Amino acid sequence: MAVHGLRIAVVAACAGLVAPWLGPASPAGASPAAGGGCSAGARTLSPPGSRVYPETGNGGYASLHTLVHLVYDATANRFLPGNRVDLTDRATQCLTSFSLDFERSSANTSSGPDMTVNSVTVNGVPARFRFVQPTYPGDPNGQDDPDPAAHQASQTNPVGGPRHNPLPPACSPELLSANAGKDSLNGTPCPANKLVITPTAPIRNGDTFTVMVSYTGRPGVHNDGDGTTEGWFRAPDGGFVTTEPVGTEDWMPLNDYPAAKPTYDFSDTVTAGRTVTANGVLVSVRPHRASREFPGGSVTWNWHSPAPIASYLVEDSVGNYRLTARTADGIRFYQAQDTSIGAAQQRKNLAIMRMQPDITRFESQFNGPYPFSSDGIVIGTPTVSFDEEMQTMIAFSGGTIDTDTLYHENMHQWWGDHVTEDGYRLTFYKEGLATLAEFLYHARLAEDAAGGPSSPKGRAAFQASLVHQFNAIYGSGGSFWTAAPSNPDPFGLFSGSATYSRPGAAYIALRQILGHTNFARALQQIQRMYGGASISEAELEAVFRQWLPVHSSACQARLSEFFTQWFDTAYPPGGGPHRPMITGPDLAGPGFYGAHGVCA
Ligand SMILES: [Zn+2]
Repeated sequence: MAVHGLRIAVVAACAGLVAPWLGPASPAGASPAAGGGCSAGARTLSPPGSRVYPETGNGGYASLHTLVHLVYDATANRFLPGNRVDLTDRATQCLTSFSLDFERSSANTSSGPDMTVNSVTVNGVPARFRFVQPTYPGDPNGQDDPDPAAHQASQTNPVGGPRHNPLPPACSPELLSANAGKDSLNGTPCPANKLVITPTAPIRNGDTFTVMVSYTGRPGVHNDGDGTTEGWFRAPDGGFVTTEPVGTEDWMPLNDYPAAKPTYDFSDTVTAGRTVTANGVLVSVRPHRASREFPGGSVTWNWHSPAPIASYLVEDSVGNYRLTARTADGIRFYQAQDTSIGAAQQRKNLAIMRMQPDITRFESQFNGPYPFSSDGIVIGTPTVSFDEEMQTMIAFSGGTIDTDTLYHENMHQWWGDHVTEDGYRLTFYKEGLATLAEFLYHARLAEDAAGGPSSPKGRAAFQASLVHQFNAIYGSGGSFWTAAPSNPDPFGLFSGSATYSRPGAAYIALRQILGHTNFARALQQIQRMYGGASISEAELEAVFRQWLPVHSSACQARLSEFFTQWFDTAYPPGGGPHRPMITGPDLAGPGFYGAHGVCA
């Protein structure tokens, strides 16, 4: 994600293999077994004590595939009868009930959602459904705890608020504006956005089952813990989708957690003349004659993503987009922009969009092969809170695109998209790497100015640019170092140095410590090991540790301390002595190795 209006230095501030949903059935304390060892699935995937979006995710099953089947009137901004999602899941316990995330309405009555669930079936059989509040993860009284204090919002753990609630938060507050007081909703009830589905008979452990949710109404945006919005933005010609971290549930029901990654098909029937841009590759476009729902005719767009997609990376924008495509290096590149953007601006945008194959080639030098069969960009007109790295279809808002941010979002295709963080508190891991891509872009410009990559002067300029960038960040004072990247609160998750510049600088230091070749090898090993799935902080750090050039226990320990300082420590304000005290060779600050290249 790249946030508008937050730029630091030359950089745009933006925005193991054991998947958590396959883990223990009930981190929230699912209902006790109702006979036969069957029980309700957990209504959160967040670990106990979470304060960043603890309400999201659902356990007891793995999300395998989703067919999105929108029937969308782009003129009225409404989902019409026939609109539905078909979810294919596999039970990881015997399930008496299970849940999805779906915000069908919210306190934001102007641009929030206003939708109705009309029916739910499981394996084609009608199922009972109801909406409940989330419960704080780990509640020993179970997720139907009658205590209202077990279902309250907060930025902090414990909830606090006017009644000094000592329990952990059940959800992140939905602040109605970025100017709302950070803690103004602490201690208020969480909205009932958990859609609990009870099939007529329990689903056996290991069974694959399909869930069809039919719903109609107006999709909308989610108000986040920092007061920004994301989800389905109204555009004059349809809807524009950027959703990080949780706004997908404001236009479709899903297992709304980054580590839940089903594959996707889209079959969207929309107002005639409109274009649908979604993830993956375009399969077909079929026009239809006038009907009762669409008096002027309609058109069905089919997109297919064979790659799994994290919850916040599902793209499905509808509008008057001019869509083009070309193939380079075996990758299909899509370019879409709204036709209402002025002609001169469209030409400027297209020139930048056409750089995507070159940027992908450049970033592949570090990350290894591009992980998907397609890549692309959609430029919409609404003014929204951020641009976003939607998988294979990067969403730019406000009618414009810029090169820095494209380097950033395209880097996310490897980091965040292919290898996804295992929870929101690891957001810094992928934002740091995307920020590194902006540093690498500026280093590339310096290299080109000095003679290019084939000349020693060019390569020296590349390196000098990165060192300069690190040293500029390392000199930061004030509140730059006061939040630990791995312990964000909802209010600061996407706005601060802890998510972007600090981890970005840490990766420059890591490249100095491991050596440039080993650093790239580590990145590529992470892609191979965790691609298509998610990664934890411990797993991430373990791979980097393997690529230390000096295999001594002292160096291993020093690298562990490096990660603790850069990723996990909140320092007093001011910088200077209050910042990480391990940097890397040739960088400002204390180095990593001693005089003889060993870790003392
Ligand atoms: Zn980002």
